[in-house]
Parts: sequence; C-alpha cells; structure tokens
Amino acid sequence: MRFIVDGMLGGLARWLRILGQEVVYDKTRNDNALLNRAIKDKMILLTRDEELCQRATAKRVTKLLVTELREEERIAQVAKRFRLSLEVDMAKTRCPECGKDLRKTPRSEISHKVPAKSLALYEEFWECKNPECAKVYWIGGHWRQITSTLAKAKKIMETIQDTC
Ligand SMILES: [Zn+2]
Repeated sequence: MRFIVDGMLGGLARWLRILGQEVVYDKTRNDNALLNRAIKDKMILLTRDEELCQRATAKRVTKLLVTELREEERIAQVAKRFRLSLEVDMAKTRCPECGKDLRKTPRSEISHKVPAKSLALYEEFWECKNPECAKVYWIGGHWRQITSTLAKAKKIMETIQDTC
C-alpha cells in the first residue's frame, strides 16, 4: 500500500510515515500530475479537493477525500478506510521529513547531530537512510505528543465519518 497526498496534507503525510507507510508528498505537483502518478504507480490518492477526488473516481484510482481538519481526525479517517494500525513500530517507521527508511544508529555515530542533553538522556537513536536528509530521531519529550494524538485518533476511529 502506497499513498500519494496532495499539497494541503503535508501534516498527514508526516503522520503516515511515522506509522510506517510509504507516502509521496510533493506540494508542487498539480492535479493532473498527482492523478497520473497515482495511476502509473498504483498509489492511493489522499486529497482535500472534491473535484480531484471525483476525477480519481472516474479513473478508478483508489482514493479518499480527507474532510476532517484536525490531525487526529485525519489520521482516524485514513486508518479507518485502509485499516491501518495506529501503533508506532520504530522498526517500520519512516522519516517524517522525506519518507525514506530509518536505521538504528549507535550513539557514537550521531553524537555531532544531537544536543548533548538528549544524548545523555536517551539510549536509542535512528538516522534517516537518505544521505541528503540524514535526520536523526529519538524517543524524546515530543513522544508524549505523538502517542497522545494517536490515542485520540484510535478513540474517534469508530465514529468518524467515512467519505467518498
Ligand atoms: Zn529523511
């Protein structure tokens, strides 16, 4: 399962990558380019644009019209439709910035990229495999925010409205 998301859903793209999904997000793409890529690479189109959604229907592209506004609602909408797990598994998580895989990296290799305080506090670090990105991640203070948003998404998943 691979997703392509429109330029208005950058936040959602990041969440899906955290959940381990393959996501193409290119805010410069126009509607035709999005549709053609979805068709060519058999990707699921996520869009806020009703007209684009209708065009996707006509072309038999698997798609979802994302109508909700809050991140946890959007996550719930996508998870409900495509039966995604809302658990984070760091072995599957992708780089939220660029979408490439992460690799677990020894502290010594990334010590120049992480604030000293975080290096001292945390044991495990992951680095993006994309050399042009190479961002480093760890389960730090922001983690509570991530799990809290996903917990909210789980809670509302049953009741969230499904769309076209
Ligand atoms: Zn990256």
